[in-house]
Amino acid sequence: LVSLVGVNKHFGALHVLKNIDLTVDRGEVMVVIGPSGGGKSTLCRTINRLETIDEGQIIFDGIPLPEEGRALARLRSEVGMVFQSFNLFAHKTILDNVTLGPVKVRRKPRKEAAMRAMELLDRVGIASQAHKYPAQLSGGQQQRVAIARALAMDPKMILFDEPTSALDPEMVQEVLDVMIGLARDGMTMVVVTHEMGFARRAANRVVFMADGQIVEQNTPDEFFTNARTDRARDFLSKIL
Ligand code: ATP
Ligand code: MG
Repeated sequence: LVSLVGVNKHFGALHVLKNIDLTVDRGEVMVVIGPSGGGKSTLCRTINRLETIDEGQIIFDGIPLPEEGRALARLRSEVGMVFQSFNLFAHKTILDNVTLGPVKVRRKPRKEAAMRAMELLDRVGIASQAHKYPAQLSGGQQQRVAIARALAMDPKMILFDEPTSALDPEMVQEVLDVMIGLARDGMTMVVVTHEMGFARRAANRVVFMADGQIVEQNTPDEFFTNARTDRARDFLSKIL
């Protein structure tokens, strides 16, 4: 579904992405792990062209990702993104948060968008909160709304950048459960996370990134029991 070919990116003198070659297949759930500063968030952001790249190509659904303009906006609307900080619109209700994109970007009739939003809110277990404002919800609930909002655009894939890192521990599982459900339903997902339980249960592939490089990638089973590089073994020994 999306391929990165020879992607390089710098922030000034810092080489953050070094010759990244990576393909995410349709329906695949790819978990990206690695030490802080390794380039995981930058990788997600480049897939969505929230960051420009210096070199290389990103091919989405057979089309090279354009630099800018309407074509970029359209492709971007097909890739959902869920961040660590939920990024909901504070002054809009939960329902409005979920309908805004479809109405404004997809030109969906408001009524139709609202019906679909209610279905999605039901799917993430928040339908009863639809008329509240984000601040009235717990962190876990807000993150589930953010997932419903991403789904409302009917994306071809969703990028998750540490979706549970800002949550109180007791709320992590409710968000992971929604994500596991999406994975089971065949959504293409790239998930940056430290939740190794999620990686074991839902991922098809684990990609270990450090110093701007993909150091190693494998199935979760292989990676967690038989990491090939010292770098990955060292990282795993610290988090497992
Ligand atoms: P973490 O686990 O802490 O979230 P990460 O793997 O997501 O780390 P990135 O956020 O991708 O890492 O950052 C990679 C490197 O690029 C880091 O050294 C970071 O300081 C740097 N960096 C990220 N964004 C910018 C920016 N906008 N300008 C300059 N440097 C940046
Ligand atoms: Mg990050």
